[in-house]
Amino acid sequence: MLTNEWVIIATERAKRPEDFQKMEPGKPPLPEFSARCPFCPGNEAQTPPATYTIERNGKWQVRAVPNKFAALQKDIPFQPKRLGRFLKATGYGIAEVIIEAPLHNLTLATMDDESVEDVVKAYKLRYLSVAKEKQICFINLFRNHGLRAGTSLEHPHSQLIATPVIPPHVRNPIEQAVRYYDTHGRCIYCEMLAEEMRRKERVIAETDYFIAYAPYASRTPFEVRIMPKKHQASFADIEGAETSDFAGFLKKNLARIYKGLNNPDYNFIIRSAPVGDEKAKYFHWYMLIIPKLTNPAGFEMGTGIYINVTYPEQCAEFLKDINI
Ligand SMILES: [Zn+2]
Ligand SMILES: [Zn+2]
Repeated sequence: MLTNEWVIIATERAKRPEDFQKMEPGKPPLPEFSARCPFCPGNEAQTPPATYTIERNGKWQVRAVPNKFAALQKDIPFQPKRLGRFLKATGYGIAEVIIEAPLHNLTLATMDDESVEDVVKAYKLRYLSVAKEKQICFINLFRNHGLRAGTSLEHPHSQLIATPVIPPHVRNPIEQAVRYYDTHGRCIYCEMLAEEMRRKERVIAETDYFIAYAPYASRTPFEVRIMPKKHQASFADIEGAETSDFAGFLKKNLARIYKGLNNPDYNFIIRSAPVGDEKAKYFHWYMLIIPKLTNPAGFEMGTGIYINVTYPEQCAEFLKDINI
């Protein structure tokens, strides 16, 4: 309803959650330190100077640094220009890497709660700082884990990319949410959440502040959505007890995927309202974790319709039962 998109749940080729566990080869163990890794302690000179660090006992725990190989640059103003029927613009934007831990072989699913909380704090503070830049409209926080998810750097890290435009992929669901709010006077995400909590069949876990569930008709197997229970349009508005609660909950849900599916590659994104709309009543921030277990192919490219070979309800049941 929110995206207007269709998903085919292919019952003839339906796979049971256990089948995915067997298919995943897992990953070879990594060393705690790699001399060639630009993110390992001792190699700080290989990255631009940090924009933010969290230190403990004189050593950094989390380091945010400008992305050395950024697709967008901070020091050129955004200037769109018509080119006949086409539009072109300078590549303005902000791209940062958030190095999540000094140890090369950790990942959020295997870190202690305190370290994950440091990472979440860094996300929030970098978000708030970047949001102050005049031309920035939208901030995407994300993590690519593993080759299939688009990263070749093993060292645990997340990314922030901020753009001077709101892309259609983001704008379209926002427009649906605005329309819903105009008609019903309520946030569509709050309504969906209430329904998920009433039905329970896709709910994986919950805390006082957050809920994790397998979205209705998800596009790919084992998608997990984490949302604040109270209405909140921007991730950067989490504070106090919510921050540690979110960090612990994120870690637990990533650990379910790590353990239950053999440490698969995955992406996660944190989707917040556009910059300036942090207090919007129509939008509700969320995090989406997408394990890379299948490859979208010609049909998906040709139609935008995804074929999912699992039932989200079964995935929720499976993840709920993982012993973490
Ligand atoms: Zn490293
Ligand atoms: Zn809401």
